[in-house]
Amino acid sequence: MNVPFLPNNPEKIVEADRAHVWHHLIQHKPFETIDPRIIVEGKGIHVWDIKGKEHLDGVSGGVWTVNVGYGRERIADAVRDQLVKLNYFAGSAGSIPGAQFSEKLIEKMPGMSRVYFANSGSEANEKGFKMVRQIAHKRYGGKKHKILYRERDYHGTTIATLSAGGQEERNAQYGPFTPGFVPVPHCLEYRGADQNLPDGESYGIRAARAIEEVILREGPDTVGALCLEPITAGGGVITPPEGYWETVQEICKKYDILLHIDEVVCGVGRTGTWFGYQNYDIKPDIVTMAKGVASGYAAISCCVTTEAVFDMFKDDASDPMGYFRDISTFGGCTAGPAAALENMAIIEEEGLLQNTVDMGAYFFGKLEELADKHTCIGDVRGKGLFLGAELVKDRDTREALDEKMVQAVVGDCMAQGVIIGATNRSLPGLNNTLCFSPALIANKDNLDHLADAVDQALTRVVG
Ligand code: PMP
Repeated sequence: MNVPFLPNNPEKIVEADRAHVWHHLIQHKPFETIDPRIIVEGKGIHVWDIKGKEHLDGVSGGVWTVNVGYGRERIADAVRDQLVKLNYFAGSAGSIPGAQFSEKLIEKMPGMSRVYFANSGSEANEKGFKMVRQIAHKRYGGKKHKILYRERDYHGTTIATLSAGGQEERNAQYGPFTPGFVPVPHCLEYRGADQNLPDGESYGIRAARAIEEVILREGPDTVGALCLEPITAGGGVITPPEGYWETVQEICKKYDILLHIDEVVCGVGRTGTWFGYQNYDIKPDIVTMAKGVASGYAAISCCVTTEAVFDMFKDDASDPMGYFRDISTFGGCTAGPAAALENMAIIEEEGLLQNTVDMGAYFFGKLEELADKHTCIGDVRGKGLFLGAELVKDRDTREALDEKMVQAVVGDCMAQGVIIGATNRSLPGLNNTLCFSPALIANKDNLDHLADAVDQALTRVVG
């Protein structure tokens, strides 16, 4: 395909980038001898770099974001139409696309009611944490303020969200952290099922009961919320085991603890349902979302609550401190909800939830075929088009494959023009997991191509 946006001065751009851009998530020393990667164009599920090379994007923009694929003119048109009418207004005012998108979103989330706009996943999660803290102050004299988070989950990059972060590698150098965040054990059956289970108890129920043990140790009257990813993303694509969610829900109810579900990755179609929690029998109190909300066409995130949570901030109108004393300046950008509205319409009109279910099952099967051939694949996990393959040195001992080899697999795919991801890269000994999350428009040809690249890479790198 033609790449119309290729610049005529690529070397100059690469040099400007090398001289001045501080890229996310990467050690820059190698850029002294190799060029930084610059992506210039995308169409559907493919992107082109500044050298004109085509890549099949197996991770939707690097981090599970571009759910409806690249080059969607109707989203660009909707954003443009809105921007020329009104680009921004904030403070306590609303907007037309904000109201329309909220209505449409809530239609897809039975039981939920109110949408609070922000810009990033971290920020949406912080809004949720602040709501929990304020409820603790309003209702419980500040006592019920602790927020539980789970090992291997991630909720964002700010100091408060890192304080709720269960991935050691991301936290190691950024303490001291914010008090009041307490970890609960992970639920990765592949690496936890060897514990002695009482008769008749499944690993899922045990993993959920471990949360209850933390609540009892901390004191239920001090715990305000439990914040969990429905399926852990960056921590290794961890699908909660049977029985887990039902028990978690029951525990939250029993101790009057708000359930905050972080849908930043799973939200808006990624797992084949509108939201990841809808795969399970869960009734959350707070749901946060970001990446797929507008597929990266505009920066938008949302913290969605039930009417019951909202009411706690509305009912005492006589209290000047009673309302949610929070603002996000760019929560007033109208491009976000305008893009998000169109993004949802595309998912509905093109039947992308069903495609995600069908293509997710197809690719899961492909990964299982690869596992039959390559003994370094220890476990295949995930839901919809959100899948992972954990790599091990030895299937019996489950010792993790060296992270340099995992990176070499990713690098080999990249050289073949196929972008995949890997989680927990700098934590040797933990789950080094290849990660796949193509756009929800993926078809069998795309997925065959993806699986073939991984097959070749595993053969070359691991043998
Ligand atoms: N929650 C989860 C589950 C995430 O994966 C991420 C980002 N990878 C975040 C929150 C933070 O989102 P953001 O980078 O937009 O702040």
